[in-house]
Amino acid sequence: MIILECKNIYKSYPIKKNFFGKVIRELPVLKGVSLKIEKGKSVGILGDSGSGKTTLAKILLDLEKPDRGDVLYKGVSIYDMKKEKYKVFRLNVQAVFQNPYNSLNPRMKVIDIVAEGLKINFKLDREIIRKRVLESVRRCGLPASVIDLYPHQLSGGQRQRVAIARAIVLKSEVIIADEPTSALDVSVQSQMINLFLELQEIFLISYLFISHNPAVVDALCDSVYEMNEGKLRDVAFSDNKFF
Ligand code: ADP
Ligand code: MG
Repeated sequence: MIILECKNIYKSYPIKKNFFGKVIRELPVLKGVSLKIEKGKSVGILGDSGSGKTTLAKILLDLEKPDRGDVLYKGVSIYDMKKEKYKVFRLNVQAVFQNPYNSLNPRMKVIDIVAEGLKINFKLDREIIRKRVLESVRRCGLPASVIDLYPHQLSGGQRQRVAIARAIVLKSEVIIADEPTSALDVSVQSQMINLFLELQEIFLISYLFISHNPAVVDALCDSVYEMNEGKLRDVAFSDNKFF
C-alpha cells in the first residue's frame, strides 16, 4: 500500500530580482521528481549538497509548494483535500531534521515539546497526555526524567530522540528524516539507526531517509535513490558506486 507519493515535481527558486522586485532569473531545483513511499518500508535518498533533497522533503511535508506536480497521501492529492483529511495527512506525516536544536523550541520542556501535537489536535486530559508522552519518550530510549528538562540540557543524540518521540506520540505513519544522523557522533549514529529500525518494527512506520552517508541509507532502506541536480535515479548497491 502506498502511503505517500509525489508525481513529476518541478520547483524553482527565484535567484535574481530586478529593481522593481520582479524575478528575472530562476534556479531550477527539482526537475520532474516522482517517488513512492510504501507502508512499513524505507526509502533512502543520497546526493550531493545542493542537489534538491531538502526541497523535496519540504514539498512532501507541504512546507513548500511545487511549481508543478502533485503530492498524494493515500491516493488523494494534498492540494485538493478536504480540511479533515488534510489534518490526518499532517498528523501522519512527520519530520525529523538534521539539527534537532533548531527544530525544538528552546523555551519548552521536553514534555511540552512532545505533547504539542496531541494538545493541538486532540481533546485529551492532562494525565492521558502525560502518560502518552512518557510512553513515547521511553520507546525512544530516553529516561522518564528528561520530560522536565529543556533542549539545551540534553545531548545531541537525546535531542534527536525527542524529535522522534514527537512523531511517535502521534502514531505517525511516515517519518521524513532529513540528515537525521549527520550532526551526531559516529557512535551515537549507530544507536539512532537501531532506534529507527526498532520503531519501524513496532509501529510499521514508513521512512524517507535523506543522507549523504551511503552506510546509513544502506543500513536502513529497502530502496535507494540518488538525487542529482534535481533528478532522482535508482541506485543499485551492487554497482560499487559508493563502496
Ligand atoms: P540539499 O538538501 O540537497 O542540499 P536543497 O534542497 O536544500 O539541497 O537546495 C537545493 C538548491 O536550492 C540549492 O542551490 C539551494 O541554495 C537552493 N535553495 C533552497 N532553498 C531555497 C530558498 N528558499 N530560496 C532560494 N534558493 C533555495
Ligand atoms: Mg539538505
